Amino acid sequence: MFIENFKVDSPNVRYGEEAIEAVYHYETTELVHENREGDYQWVVKPKTVGYDFKTDTRVPKLGVMLVGWGGNNGSTLTAGVIANKEGISWATKDKVQQANYFGSLTQASTIRVGSFNGEEIYAPFKSLLPMVDPNNIVFGGWDISDMNLADAMARAKVLDLVLQKQLRPYMESMVPLPGIFDPDFVAANQGARANNVIKGTKKEQVQQIIKDIREFKEKTKVDKVVVLWTANTERYSNVVVGLNDTVENLMASLEKNDAEISPSTLYGIACVLENVPYINGSPQNTFVPGLIDLAIQRNSLIGGDDFKSGQTKMKSVLVDFLVGAGIKPTSIVSYNHLGNNDGMNLSAPQTFRSKEISKSNVVDDMVSSNGILYETGEHPDHVIVIKYVPYVGDSKRAMDEYTSEIFMGGRSTIVLHNTCEDSLLAAPIILDLVLLAELSTRIQLKAEGEDKFHSFHPVSAILSYLTKAPLVPPGTPVVNALSKQRAMLENILRACVGLAPENNMNLENK
Ligand code: NAD
Repeated sequence: MFIENFKVDSPNVRYGEEAIEAVYHYETTELVHENREGDYQWVVKPKTVGYDFKTDTRVPKLGVMLVGWGGNNGSTLTAGVIANKEGISWATKDKVQQANYFGSLTQASTIRVGSFNGEEIYAPFKSLLPMVDPNNIVFGGWDISDMNLADAMARAKVLDLVLQKQLRPYMESMVPLPGIFDPDFVAANQGARANNVIKGTKKEQVQQIIKDIREFKEKTKVDKVVVLWTANTERYSNVVVGLNDTVENLMASLEKNDAEISPSTLYGIACVLENVPYINGSPQNTFVPGLIDLAIQRNSLIGGDDFKSGQTKMKSVLVDFLVGAGIKPTSIVSYNHLGNNDGMNLSAPQTFRSKEISKSNVVDDMVSSNGILYETGEHPDHVIVIKYVPYVGDSKRAMDEYTSEIFMGGRSTIVLHNTCEDSLLAAPIILDLVLLAELSTRIQLKAEGEDKFHSFHPVSAILSYLTKAPLVPPGTPVVNALSKQRAMLENILRACVGLAPENNMNLENK
């Protein structure tokens, strides 16, 4: 059964005027010590830690500024939200299609609340805590191409023409602000669309971005802004001692107009200085150590990297299933071809390399979780190929071959072929990223022994479900397995309303 929403009735939970407060018992385990004598190698102790959560329930009017607003993702997301807000429907050759938010974890997935009269009860994911309604988001942003959003939507060739026609009047007046462009960081073929760029030194460019954010806030009367990079994939920046390894060195390099600070890092510096959450949807290392430290110093949320939309999402499910089933993946080969501007940009070796790195590490945690299948340091062969094929446009092809060793030396080979519009996968993920980033800035927590509430670590690991190469606080483990990432996010939000984690034990029925 499906219910729209629910309220928790518990002595541990208080719904106030402006906040939900929850007292929570976090059940975990502590590895005590290696036991050199006896039958057991390790001693493990169950442990309960008390936590207080406080979630501000005043949902702000949210502004979202996209870097690369006029790109396929930016224009598709903007169009999709307008279509939902205006209740637009359009005729396709199959049926009359209604606008929807399919593919969005917050808007289109559910969580199990419990059972009632022997029936499982599910509620929308978004009903866990008060979240911004995507229909109320005000969009803005930058692009190095000055094309208005209606023309950008047509250039993207993603949405049906009949729908585009209805959306055009809403989008014609939306024009991206000039962006920071540096041809050294993207493929040479991108120069042709750069007719809308910020001039000046890198420091002046950062100052312009700060000014843009302030003016956008002022003009649209939004309470909060989140900035998200959905512009071209850049090459990796060199991380060099003295250049960008510390806050001081990064800021000094900015003063010196150092060539190696990428545009995506410049937007990041501006956002962190303005205390505006900044999320990187592309694979490059925008978050150089100096920028991560700056975000930590200023407690300003950063998240990334690279939307986990299609092939990698599948990989983080399939390899988790195989390794979890005691099957040993030995070779994973992924081919893609696509014909949109992203594909054209990725046809240069330096930008392709960023994508290759981002896609490569996704099975590491699953492989290292199973010392029965893999020796220390052993890894499946993992190869990634991306080719630019203009004809297929945004409709990306992904072909994957997984070969595994099974019982008694047997081999199992699974082959997948997916055809899908890339931007229709990415747009709902962008939505989730900005909604969850905003929500997480309203959550405060305090572990027993701590005297003050604090926010989550500014490096936002709770966004991991949505990213290919999750950025996590320095020194903490990266989790790529999709089901674990979803459980982490859902269970943390459940904790905020004093609900136990979803453990699927169903003891009441056993
Ligand atoms: P796109 O090329 O259509 O859009 C990018 C836009 O950014 C373009 O309009 C371009 O003019 C603009 N731009 C480039 N550099 C800029 C800068 N420095 N400042 C401001 N604007 C700038 O690409 P897309 O298909 O929308 O994808 C965007 C990014 O998302 C790419 O890096 C891609 O790798 C990444 N990504 C996409 C998916 C997906 O499923 N679509 C998944 C993961 C990652």
